[in-house]
Amino acid sequence: MKTMTEPKPPLVVSNVIFFVTVNLLGFVAAPLYGLMVGFSGWAWLAAAVIWIASGLSITVGYHRLWSHRTFRAAWPLRLALAVFGTFSLQNSILIWAARHRVHHRHVDDVDRDPHSIKSGFWHAHMGWMTRHWKTSEVNFDEVPDLQKDPIVMWQHKLYWPAVWTLNLGVPAGLGWLAGDVLGMILLAGAFRLAFSQQCTFFINSLAHTWGRRGHSLDNTARDNGWIALVTWGEGYHNFHHAFQADYRNGLSWWHFDPGKWLVAACNWVGLARELKRTAKFKVQRARLQVRFLELERRLASPDALTTWREVFEREYQQFRETVNQWQAVQAERVQAGADAVRDRWHKIEFRTRYKELEYRLKMQGRRLAALQRNLQPQPA
Ligand SMILES: [Zn+2]
Ligand SMILES: [Zn+2]
Repeated sequence: MKTMTEPKPPLVVSNVIFFVTVNLLGFVAAPLYGLMVGFSGWAWLAAAVIWIASGLSITVGYHRLWSHRTFRAAWPLRLALAVFGTFSLQNSILIWAARHRVHHRHVDDVDRDPHSIKSGFWHAHMGWMTRHWKTSEVNFDEVPDLQKDPIVMWQHKLYWPAVWTLNLGVPAGLGWLAGDVLGMILLAGAFRLAFSQQCTFFINSLAHTWGRRGHSLDNTARDNGWIALVTWGEGYHNFHHAFQADYRNGLSWWHFDPGKWLVAACNWVGLARELKRTAKFKVQRARLQVRFLELERRLASPDALTTWREVFEREYQQFRETVNQWQAVQAERVQAGADAVRDRWHKIEFRTRYKELEYRLKMQGRRLAALQRNLQPQPA
């Protein structure tokens, strides 16, 4: 699509003016003001609160609730997520989700993915918003479900007045109360907005460039704990692209995923329900598949020992058997129907069978890791 010979589409003038203004105000004017005049404690507090609330609303609301439907939310939660999400100036929920669903379905495709990393780092980061690219067009047919959500439609209709009220009106009002109008607008308005936008944009650029691909080699998405730190947990992007229906992005308890924690907390107080989780076995299966692919590549080299190739074949055979058995248990459970859920004996019987199969994959994962280390070129 974007070859050197082809003329680039025209600029989206309003977006360019917006990005230049916000970044100049946020990254140049605000630090200068801070150095020369200084900010009040209230300005720092307001900036922090709005930064956290708006960032979490994009992660939990725009992304995991509306784009991927990973859980269901009661209307007070949806309202709060819509209002605070508007602070982030990333377009309405409807537009955001429509583009995001296309990103997942056609990830890396330069002709369809709105911010394909294959069109370059800058394009994926911000370039896709600065020109009238064909791939940046919005197709509302992607979001028929969201068009039935009155809160989503209300936010879409009132989006621009709400943006100005929240990003300029609220900081100005708070500044007036705290006696620091300009400081509040620069810190809680401009700097907070410019900073949070850059962090989010890194998910499309950096999280498709830098990090591990432990769950799938099918696309460029990466797992990166550093990016998770500034994006409320969205840095585990390889897992997310592999299992987009899961409300979690960071799977382990030690993964920094405040988005996941907030959804769990909302579930606990009754504001969120039907949280979707990927079966543990499926995650393990995906991880092993990646390991097998990596091993296969390494064993393809002519100097790989035949004995290791045989070990590989044996392991892969065993892996397939475990997967087949798991599928059989799944089928049996469907057949058992209500019994499998109600009856105590059935419940425990199924649970132990799942656990056994999960354990088998876990141990196989350890063996494959050891095998990978064995195949590492030894220092002479
Ligand atoms: Zn997503
Ligand atoms: Zn992505």
